[in-house]
Amino acid sequence: MRRIDLKKANAARSNTIRDINRQIVLNYVRELGPISRAAIARETALQRSTISLIVDELRVVGLIEEVSGESTGGRPPSLLSLRTVDAVAIGVDLGTVKTVMASSDLAGRVLEQEEFPTDPDVKKTLEKIVDCSQRLIGKTRGAIEGIGISVPGVVDPESGNLYVPHFNWRNAPIAETLTQATSLPVSMDNDANAAALAELWFGRPEIREVRDFILVLVEQGVGTGIVFDGQVYRGEGGTAGEFGHMTIGTGAPVECAVGSRECWEAFASERSAVARYQKLARSNGDDVSFSAVMDLALKGERNARAALKETARYLGIGIANLIQGLAPEAVIVGGPIARVWPVIVEDLKASVDSSICRGFPSTPILDSTLGSEPTLMGALSLVLASKFASAPVA
Ligand SMILES: [Zn+2]
Repeated sequence: MRRIDLKKANAARSNTIRDINRQIVLNYVRELGPISRAAIARETALQRSTISLIVDELRVVGLIEEVSGESTGGRPPSLLSLRTVDAVAIGVDLGTVKTVMASSDLAGRVLEQEEFPTDPDVKKTLEKIVDCSQRLIGKTRGAIEGIGISVPGVVDPESGNLYVPHFNWRNAPIAETLTQATSLPVSMDNDANAAALAELWFGRPEIREVRDFILVLVEQGVGTGIVFDGQVYRGEGGTAGEFGHMTIGTGAPVECAVGSRECWEAFASERSAVARYQKLARSNGDDVSFSAVMDLALKGERNARAALKETARYLGIGIANLIQGLAPEAVIVGGPIARVWPVIVEDLKASVDSSICRGFPSTPILDSTLGSEPTLMGALSLVLASKFASAPVA
């Protein structure tokens, strides 16, 4: 049973049950739409009259719309689906190399997308984010309801304080400035947390049934987003999930973000895979990208495949530690590396199996279905998930 947090407990309001029912109907439409009122009634055991009332409210606030189904002779049946004609969210995927921005509809479909190099000067980057937001807002006929930002750093959910180690940005007023410039609410979170939220709401269908899972985000570093009981676990000051810096061994091919050669990310990040490839191929050029190594591996090039398989082995050792400590129902691996899943999956799973002490049930390890930029979907989810997690009616 869940312990009641007295600090957060509110006296139950008379419309609490109505709010919950509204959320249930909205999420049935989101996951199963187009769907009829009768089908929702069958699935939920809610009364038809209750459903009709809720549907009317959700239509008025523009969350769902009525569409015509296939006719089986008579009048085509009226079905409900998420209203997806206009953009409702803007996502800012702030990365250490580039920043990707997009607008999306309620279902998370990207409608417009732009990108630019991230400037180490936070003021310059912020100017570009403001400009791009205004362009994206100008391009939509609908009303943007909020902006979500995913950052490669720590965001304190209470104070909003921000720290991005790569650029040494501390407490830069990103959210405040963007709110002032656009008059929109802005929410910001760590990139792996945001990607985990995206997996929870827009990821694999299997994950909808899962309450506890871990997203391992492999990029320049390695980050993890932890979901417990259907909620992203942030920890004190938003610093949970820094497993990228757990000690895995000695003599890693590269240094971690803070200069250690013993951390998981020094063994399992994109940078480590590139370093392994360069060593095997005896190439000292700095210009080999992780993307190029993946392309070579997919074409069957021996050194690139070996570099990725070795990286997958270390990824597996870290994942085995997480499974033993946290016992999630599933582990998802996300980031560009998901593109070479067929190359790495066997070595990854074999490494997890051999690193886990016998007797533990095996945990499914899945590749992310959110594409090579799960953090962009994460940024959008910071706006979209709040609409589905509670459906306030104006
Ligand atoms: Zn480290």
